Amino acid sequence: MSDNKYVYFFGGGKADGNTTMKELLGGKGANLAEMNNIGLPVPAGFTATTEVCTYYYDNERNYPPELADQVNAAVAMVEETMGAKFGDAENPLLFSCRSGARESMPGMMDTVLNIGLNESVVLALAKQSGNEHFAWDSYRRLIQMYGDVVLELKPEKKTDPDFFEDILERELHAAGVDHEKDLSVDQLKTIVGEFKAVIKKHAGVEFPDDPMEQLWGCIGAVFGSWMNDRAMVYRRQYGIPHSWGTAVNVQAMVFGNLGDTCATGVGLTRNCSDGTPGFCGDYLINAQGEDVVAGTRKPERVEETLADVMPKAFEQLDSIGKTLEQHYKEVQDIEFTVQDGTVWMLQTRNAKRTGFAAVRIAVDLVNEGLITPQEALEKKRIPADDLNQLLQPIFDPASKQAAESSERLLAKGINAGPGAATGQIVFHASDAEEQWNADNDKQLILVRKETSPEDLRGMKVANGILTAFGGASSHAALVSRQMGKTCVCGCSALNINYEAGTLTVGDTVLKEGDWISIDGFSGEIFEGKIETSPSEVMDVLMGEKKPEESDTYGRYAQLMQWADENRRLKVRANAEADDAEAAVKLGAEGVGLCRTEHMFFDHLDEIREMIFATKPEDRSDALAKLLPFQRDDFTHLFKTMGDRPVTIRLLDPPLHEFLSEHHMHDDPELGPKLSKAFGVSPDEVRRRVEELAETNPMLGHRGCRLGIVFSEITAMQARAILEAACGLKKEGTEIYPEIMIPLAGFKTEFDNQAQVVRDTAAKVFAEQGVEVSYTVGTMIEIPRAALTADEIAENAEFFSFGTNDLTQTTLGMSRDDYKGFIGYYLENDIVPADPFQTVDQSGVGKLMKIGVDGGRATRPDLKIGICGEHGGDPKSVFFCHEIGLDYVSCSPRRIPIARLAAAQQALEG
Ligand code: PEP
Ligand code: MG
Repeated sequence: MSDNKYVYFFGGGKADGNTTMKELLGGKGANLAEMNNIGLPVPAGFTATTEVCTYYYDNERNYPPELADQVNAAVAMVEETMGAKFGDAENPLLFSCRSGARESMPGMMDTVLNIGLNESVVLALAKQSGNEHFAWDSYRRLIQMYGDVVLELKPEKKTDPDFFEDILERELHAAGVDHEKDLSVDQLKTIVGEFKAVIKKHAGVEFPDDPMEQLWGCIGAVFGSWMNDRAMVYRRQYGIPHSWGTAVNVQAMVFGNLGDTCATGVGLTRNCSDGTPGFCGDYLINAQGEDVVAGTRKPERVEETLADVMPKAFEQLDSIGKTLEQHYKEVQDIEFTVQDGTVWMLQTRNAKRTGFAAVRIAVDLVNEGLITPQEALEKKRIPADDLNQLLQPIFDPASKQAAESSERLLAKGINAGPGAATGQIVFHASDAEEQWNADNDKQLILVRKETSPEDLRGMKVANGILTAFGGASSHAALVSRQMGKTCVCGCSALNINYEAGTLTVGDTVLKEGDWISIDGFSGEIFEGKIETSPSEVMDVLMGEKKPEESDTYGRYAQLMQWADENRRLKVRANAEADDAEAAVKLGAEGVGLCRTEHMFFDHLDEIREMIFATKPEDRSDALAKLLPFQRDDFTHLFKTMGDRPVTIRLLDPPLHEFLSEHHMHDDPELGPKLSKAFGVSPDEVRRRVEELAETNPMLGHRGCRLGIVFSEITAMQARAILEAACGLKKEGTEIYPEIMIPLAGFKTEFDNQAQVVRDTAAKVFAEQGVEVSYTVGTMIEIPRAALTADEIAENAEFFSFGTNDLTQTTLGMSRDDYKGFIGYYLENDIVPADPFQTVDQSGVGKLMKIGVDGGRATRPDLKIGICGEHGGDPKSVFFCHEIGLDYVSCSPRRIPIARLAAAQQALEG
């Protein structure tokens, strides 16, 4: 025997593995082992490792030679532990076969249950269980799952036939019953026969009688499902590498469908929609696992009825929940089966949760003494982006009230994912994707009979998800919560007709494309559009609500306090006058980028006069008109920010952004107006406009190149900044302006502009009779600046990475024109993430490191930040922490996310 161990046994209170072995055993396998180790009731089984999966894909879908013997040995151990034999015609043991990746990927891969049944074993099972119906129904399920999963007969597209479901529906109809539990044994036998015939006809093979052949077929199908389309889409969405592979778990079956003392269910050790403490979940009496997760039958709630129906099982579950939380120090998501009143654990994993629940659970676990504040901040507990959900809109109360009083409330379902969503009805995920691809602003609500993992692509583009069946724990409901999508499910009042494209509720018939609104907090569904309004946290932050009126805010504030106590990176805002106030409320510690051109858009006449000037004196006259506006804007900004640092960037965009063919075309009065105002002919106006046009606008006459050629612009802006600061100093407020030169690539460019600023400062201070402390620094946004950072830092007093431009100039990918191909690039793994959202660490990031090292080699205490869009992206924030930046600057809404991400990296490194 070789040394390679590919199979790990668990059962009977002992296991080869444990919870630390997720990379090898996958999350499910590692936790099945761990549950055995801590004495919880787990049916015996074994895990074929993720290494088998990687081997399988590296070797043209062949297994390592040692695997067969190891599987046989493990089967024998399970037989011994369970006291039954696989394939035995007297005392049979059946297996389940499930996937289990390192990170859970709910419902994305395949499962087969009841493996080991054939024409003789089914008779033994009937005899042994004393329940012929159960045995034949189990056999029927095996053939169906085997056909769907192993023989790939499952419908892929909405137009594909669903052979097995069609037969089932036909037989149910013929028998005049609603559910297969009401079919007779003979009817089940007929269905088994028909299912086998379907396999023969459409897969071209016989359903295998040999249990071992069944088992190997299932193992292969589960490994094969690692590379199915939905699993790949899911991995891309959550950044899970394709190279990890899945493990396969083969486990002795226990039965939730043996009768009314049996049940199957999924549960959470606390509510993962809103975080409320207490065990909760869905269960079905007399059913098998997939009935709950597939959402085909509406389950009961564990916390509402199980204590009455099965008191012993409820007590056992509640106590298992507590043991698991104490052990894992995390909210758990479990699968269980009750066989004859006794609970068996089939799975536990850290539960997926909404941003709301993540914050509440983390804060509560600290208060319960289970974890420390530092642990509460962990990336895996609260992905920083999930804070978005606390800052998300809810329905505008007046608009919702109006919908209620005009009787637009259609029905109520299960509130599976919080938030408020409004959009046009779409019934198929593929249609949703198509409509959204054609128009990214399209507001859609995906309406399905039942949620299913195949809907992932549609869910991604929809504002919300609404289903008629399925509980809060159905797989797709979990996924939608994780995505932060509003979700209402299990609304049995909905009558959905896919063929007719209608949604009927009572007398109301809605068609595809009609507007509908869903409230993921209450589960309410409304006809028509409802306006949304800001989140509770935003309301408190903006002073619309008192902090003591909102528990959600209280927990948010507590978490933010812990984040602030544990981070090293400072967090600033990209803000001009208007949004600076909101930025401060969201925790901005300064302004990292004030784009002065945004201030110019209110003064287009004056800026166009400046553009028209051909002589420096005329340009200075025009700029003199702009000076008071700029000074007032800066005064306002400085007042808002108080003693926080403010970085003001001098004029950056090409001048044609203020005057171009496009403006002339949009406003036919503009040409004559300019001609009159500046005393030039219409031809001259046209000529000037043509002169300003550029083929590659972002690489032309912009940034410091403008200030160098037209130094009056730089002088005017520096004067406005410093006069505003001096004015406030005279009123008793000390201001520390940081004046930032854009797009410098040569030291000489920076020095030229810094000199203009410093000369202007000297003049202003002399005139004003006061001085303020100011610094002059530069953006690092073209590769040459990063490469020559040591030279530039000789005179530059701070750096700020402009990663929007640095990305486009490093990648040679226009930030305005990359939309045409980036979708394809992402879909096909050409790039791991959108480089304009997440720093391309090995390319742009390398230049950033060179810039930091170069700058600090010359000036060891050089202050360095980032102000590109990446400053609010968690992964990029982690990177900025790692390379030693002093601060990140981002749009105001992303400040809380950046604060949390900064703390997470400081703690986890
Ligand atoms: C940048 O390039 O990253 C930047 C912040 O500047 P702008 O987006 O204004 O070009
Ligand atoms: Mg830029």
